[in-house]
Amino acid sequence: MEKVSAYFGSLVFDDRVMKATLPADVYQSMKRTIDEGAQLDIRVANAVATAMKDWAVAHGATHYTHWFQPLTGITAEKHDSFITPSPDGGVIMEFSGKELIKGEPDASSFPSGGLRATFEARGYTAWDPTSYAFIKGKTLCIPTAFCSYGGEALDKKTPLLRSMEALNKQALRILRLFGNDSAKRVRAMVGPEQEYFLIDREMYEKRRDLRFTGTTLFGAKPPKGQEMDDHYFGVIKSRVSAYMEELNEELWKLGILAKTEHNEVAPSQHELAPIYTTANVATDHNQLTMEVMQKIAGKHNLVCLLHEKPFAGVNGSGKHNNWSLATDTGINLLSPGETPYENAQFLLFLCAVIKAVDDYQDLLRIAVATAGNDHRLGANEAPPAVVSIFLGDELNAVLEAIETDTPYQGMKKKQMKLGVDALPKFNRDTTDRNRTSPFAFTGNKFEFRMLGSSNSIACANIMLNSAVAESLKIYADRLEAAEDFETALHEMIRKTIRDHKHIIFNGNGYDDAWIREATEKRGLLNYRTTPDCMPHLMDPKNVKMLTSHGVYSEAELASRCEIMLENYCKTIVIEANTMVDMAKTEIVPAIEDYARDVAKTMAAKRLVDETLPCSYERRLVKKLSSLVDRIDTSIEELEAALLELQTAEDIASESVMIRDRILVKMSELRVACDEAETVTAKKYWPFPTYGDLLFGVK
Ligand code: ADP
Ligand code: MG
Repeated sequence: MEKVSAYFGSLVFDDRVMKATLPADVYQSMKRTIDEGAQLDIRVANAVATAMKDWAVAHGATHYTHWFQPLTGITAEKHDSFITPSPDGGVIMEFSGKELIKGEPDASSFPSGGLRATFEARGYTAWDPTSYAFIKGKTLCIPTAFCSYGGEALDKKTPLLRSMEALNKQALRILRLFGNDSAKRVRAMVGPEQEYFLIDREMYEKRRDLRFTGTTLFGAKPPKGQEMDDHYFGVIKSRVSAYMEELNEELWKLGILAKTEHNEVAPSQHELAPIYTTANVATDHNQLTMEVMQKIAGKHNLVCLLHEKPFAGVNGSGKHNNWSLATDTGINLLSPGETPYENAQFLLFLCAVIKAVDDYQDLLRIAVATAGNDHRLGANEAPPAVVSIFLGDELNAVLEAIETDTPYQGMKKKQMKLGVDALPKFNRDTTDRNRTSPFAFTGNKFEFRMLGSSNSIACANIMLNSAVAESLKIYADRLEAAEDFETALHEMIRKTIRDHKHIIFNGNGYDDAWIREATEKRGLLNYRTTPDCMPHLMDPKNVKMLTSHGVYSEAELASRCEIMLENYCKTIVIEANTMVDMAKTEIVPAIEDYARDVAKTMAAKRLVDETLPCSYERRLVKKLSSLVDRIDTSIEELEAALLELQTAEDIASESVMIRDRILVKMSELRVACDEAETVTAKKYWPFPTYGDLLFGVK
């Protein structure tokens, strides 16, 4: 194999390629657009398009696509070939600046939550020059935003870019106040850690639940689960390491900085983390990573499961969104500095995050709300649905000292009112308490840990960027008008600590006592499910904040709320239907087969000696028979509950019916079927069990 450095980014139209292929002035314009968000004129676009096409064709591409992220949560693409007929009967490969900048996918079937009237079937895609184009197979993929003709965002990238812009604007105001005139941009930087399961393809094929829903809807607990903790950081199995090796190569060719890989807590569970980059590129890369993970799995006769909860009773998969703020001059604004000014600035940005997370707990919860993730949050494997911040003992002590105006060890009170000229370097806290926190400060970044493994990270970062932009705006408004900057700064930091310290929790987030304290004593929000939280997207304070920063229009928010609830309902209804189907056509017949054979055995034994008691067979047949009856009743009740959904007046009430009725009935059906699995001889059971799936990959 070639050296990694030789092929890293070989499928990406990155800065190196641009520099080498674009005329110098075009390259400079392009750089200004990428680095500073400058407008791009059509002459530059034409030149870039031609260079991009030549490069792509030289790498075997025949088609191009505007690659975008509709609200389905996955990526979409429509391929067009570069071919244009030439007068001599042949073809030439063409690609214009116009085609690069704007595309028109037939988008009528993407969810728009009522935004795009059906008569207006087409949205358009617009090139995002801040994320490099890349080649997938024979197609040049151009990262794009996706909007309606009215300008409403129909995707996740558009609001993400808007939120980054809002954050940039407010953060720069703060930096100027601290005398920083050199930074031109502040960017949200993100490194997402991605968890996933790998299972054997043949076994996967035998389970309709996995094929239709990505998760198992039945399955008794295996005799061995994750209790031995022997998988975490354990030796990676050879089939898995072959997979990881190829996955890394593919990702590296795509310029994705895949860095660490290790086994996770559950058997068959693994994690991949890239090196962080801008929120926008990280989001594109994470979508691409999930896609490549699944594709490469197929080549190894494996299936990569990205569902949040593929196995009941076994840890599910999440995603950790590591987030910080960086200037284009390379300063991490969440890193404590060397001078009093730098430290005061650090504390201000830290406070902005604390205030943002507290003021918009609901938006952060909403950002990670899906049917799948509802299984994880609060299930003692992922943080609870209550949002709180972990700062660690050291930083906490600093904040307490500031709040109460008492000296903190090492803090000198001379140079600035804040007296923070000697902040210690905060090393990341690796205690167990830290790991149970939804939102932890880890030295120079925050780690938002509530995301589900299949979530696009766009939503979490949109909310985080916007909420922090709002805090910074409030600070900047106040500080710009202040007569005495230092006094105002000091007061504002103290006020933030005082007003928002209830969101800071440095204890064990998995503890039930914490949930009681959080909700009863501290008044923090606890939206346990998607139907609980989603409608709050439209709370006036949220609409006001998000619209005032130009991140969403009210109509866009309403449509998103609708789409998210619709997703929730559709997902669970499909799961319920799959359960009914499997129970009726696979599970019940299997139990009946077994019961019949046991009964036959009994009859055969009696032929030998009619006085044999056959109490084992009797008991077993009775047990199996009563289980079949229970399953049958559960099926009927679930079907009735599903029918009842038709009476729901709107999507919000449907989601509540699903949460309160369908999920309960699904669980009853599952319990009966799982019990049947434990008393039915293995060879009768119609599909691979948890034990087979979890320990099936050698
Ligand atoms: P772990 O959490 O597994 O101990 P790290 O903390 O080193 O690992 O990194 C986890 C992720 O956080 C990686 O994707 C890494 O690139 C990212 N990361 C590290 N520093 C920053 C930062 N300043 N801003 C955003 N992400 C970061
Ligand atoms: Mg981590």
